[in-house]
Amino acid sequence: MAEPTFRAPKGTRDILPPESGRRRALIDAFAQQAELAGFGEIMSPIFEDLGVFKRLGESTDVVTKEMFDFFDKGDPPQHLALRPELTASVCRAFAEHRPTPPWKVWYEGPQFRYEQPQAGRYRQFAQVGIETLGTDDPQADVDAIALGWHFYESLGLREITLLLNSLGDPTCRPAYMDALRTYLSDNAASLSPQSQVTLERNPLRVLDSKRDEDAAIISAAPLMVDFLTDETREHFETVRAGLDQLGIPYELSPRLVRGLDYYTRTTFEFAADALATAQNAVGGGGRYDGLVEDLGGPATPGIGFALGVDRILLACDAEGVFATPEPAVKVFVVDVTGGSHALGVCTTLRNAGIGADRSYGGRSMKAQMKVADRSGAPFAAIIGEDEVANGEVTLRDLRGDTGQQRIALVDLAEHVTRLLS
Ligand code: AMP
Repeated sequence: MAEPTFRAPKGTRDILPPESGRRRALIDAFAQQAELAGFGEIMSPIFEDLGVFKRLGESTDVVTKEMFDFFDKGDPPQHLALRPELTASVCRAFAEHRPTPPWKVWYEGPQFRYEQPQAGRYRQFAQVGIETLGTDDPQADVDAIALGWHFYESLGLREITLLLNSLGDPTCRPAYMDALRTYLSDNAASLSPQSQVTLERNPLRVLDSKRDEDAAIISAAPLMVDFLTDETREHFETVRAGLDQLGIPYELSPRLVRGLDYYTRTTFEFAADALATAQNAVGGGGRYDGLVEDLGGPATPGIGFALGVDRILLACDAEGVFATPEPAVKVFVVDVTGGSHALGVCTTLRNAGIGADRSYGGRSMKAQMKVADRSGAPFAAIIGEDEVANGEVTLRDLRGDTGQQRIALVDLAEHVTRLLS
């Protein structure tokens, strides 16, 4: 094949059928479970004022290095950015519309981050997620985590680990940050050069380093859990009790900080053990009790998560679950009389809710049967001169189960429905 003139941009890719059908099925399954739990869908713009995303944290990679930002053609031009995640957009929408809390929304769609592409890491990737705004009841945390957990389970995934931590709140965080900064500064000489830079900007982020040189220092660093106030500790204990009540296993992960700055109290991540460590984060979330206020809204607590669709599907491949859905086309109509009869037969079948396809260009019987086989349809409906004269079609079972038979056109849809059930 000749080299194409254009390719999809680096870090992006075309999702073609049938893989696209599998993705759609995953999103539909998520939508169904979220709606069953009382979440309604929010569809927000794919780009926002850059300021919305700056609130994710001026020291995070997402904001400093990975933003797809641009100026529009306005006068004066507005500084916009493709969304790198959806929590900030949801909080912006809450501050703008002031819906009655608790406000429970779910979403799906593409996100954009200028990352170094590798397996499971793209510049355009898809997420599904939920946010609950307007309650700080720890039961809402449990509900959110459980929804994520049960979603993975419903896909057939069995090798998911839930990592859980509490990042404290603005009352207990400063004392912890002081202790962490002092400890890391005292040991700065033993940290990697990258972590020494990170330390200047945000000591918490150093805990996120996966570099071997940093491991020893990180493993002995002070832990947030030892600094929690009674109130945040109680919140965390209620979340844990709720997960125990539902029989959802978790690992306490006291160094889990997550990549965005807005998290408070409960934070969690879902890791797919079937994937390599660099890409095994298949979802994560937590509380962000200050974000709506940061975006100009009323003080509003929030809890939510985002799951990475691309990586979930990689995990499904690795575990051999959640297969590509069966093709919707059940009958491939082979018309050797010129093609106009296929038009009517396809329409009749589709109107009866049966997927039907055909070929074009008046091709030979042999050529059309080849396409029929390739389509994955279980049946071919063959139309020749004799069938037309008798108001019939020849229905052939392409799986070879029931051979072939002549069926009156008027009975075709009903007959196929019976065979399919
Ligand atoms: P985050 O918003 O960073 O907490 O990410 C939530 C989830 O989105 C992660 O657990 C990943 O599954 C997925 N994700 C984040 N960044 C990427 C990326 N560049 N490519 C593919 N998936 C991603």
